[in-house]
Amino acid sequence: MYDCIIIGSGVAGVSAALTLKALKRSFLIIGNKNLSAKVMSAEKIKNYPGLNGASGAEFVKIMQAQLSEGGIALTEGRVTGIYDGENGFFVACGQDVYEGRTIILATGVETVRPIKGEKEFLGRGVSYCATCDGFLYKGKTIVVVCASKEEEHEVELLASYAAKVCLFALYKDCAVTAPNVEIMRGMPSEIVGGMKVEGVMVGGRKIEADGVFMLKDAACDSLYSALEVSGGAVRTGRDMSTNISGIFAAGDCTGRPYQYAKAAGEGNVAAHSVNARLNEKDKI
Ligand SMILES: Cc1cc2nc3c(=O)[nH]c(=O)nc-3n(C[C@H](O)[C@H](O)[C@H](O)COP(=O)(O)OP(=O)(O)OC[C@H]3O[C@@H](n4cnc5c(N)ncnc54)[C@H](O)[C@@H]3O)c2cc1C
Repeated sequence: MYDCIIIGSGVAGVSAALTLKALKRSFLIIGNKNLSAKVMSAEKIKNYPGLNGASGAEFVKIMQAQLSEGGIALTEGRVTGIYDGENGFFVACGQDVYEGRTIILATGVETVRPIKGEKEFLGRGVSYCATCDGFLYKGKTIVVVCASKEEEHEVELLASYAAKVCLFALYKDCAVTAPNVEIMRGMPSEIVGGMKVEGVMVGGRKIEADGVFMLKDAACDSLYSALEVSGGAVRTGRDMSTNISGIFAAGDCTGRPYQYAKAAGEGNVAAHSVNARLNEKDKI
């Protein structure tokens, strides 16, 4: 069991990881190889101390070097749920489950809002996880909404199971090459069906499908439903604690301003709070 599981590898998650490392805590950081698509896309950074005009890609390179020099290995994957355990929490990530005494949520903000029917059909044809549910669609037709390039390998995996994939890629330069993938225009407005998903509506037209995969970052309250959010932001105290004992949050997911300096500061504070919480627990 880890002392802490950090969910998200942007500035907040990396800051929390570097601090937990310095505090000699055991932890896992789960996220993307490129750390954060949002950071990668910044042209020129002028407002972060010490980075006078660096690009987002350069910033990512520096953070990757810091992680690797600190001996911190990033676990690639997307967390789909957090569940209560006896001594902390279970974190589901693809087909793996990790256990942590505490959690730091550093998932950024959800850039793709849920579409009509998404929540209603969850588990009845809507999935967020290609590695968990892809095999259920062997020989079938599926719709995939893919929010960023980082998720393209999941589209390829789904294409290896399904007969046909209708792909809505919400970014430029989609490089999915599987022959059974049709790249669609627009964005589904609704998921429709009866007991199970039967398709999606796009521009007033129905595309029939047996399942819909939403490959995007999850809102924090969809990872742990009892988490208190306000206006889409996780509510935290000054120590970055949430309403759930043992779960902390940092960065864009806690609200505005959406900036690196806030994300780095909150990641650092969250890590110190985790350490303080564990020290207290260990005294009992
Ligand atoms: C084009 C652009 C330019 C910008 N320029 C600036 C700038 O110049 N200065 C500035 O201060 N700010 C800038 N920002 C804002 C800045 O990028 C954000 O404030 C910052 O990235 C927030 O960091 P974060 O760690 O909270 O979230 P993010 O950087 O969004 O990182 C969150 C990470 O968590 C991952 N994640 C999400 N859900 C899960 C899950 N379920 N499981 C595993 N991983 C998950 C995401 O994929 C992502 O990698 C810019 C943003 C954009 C889009």
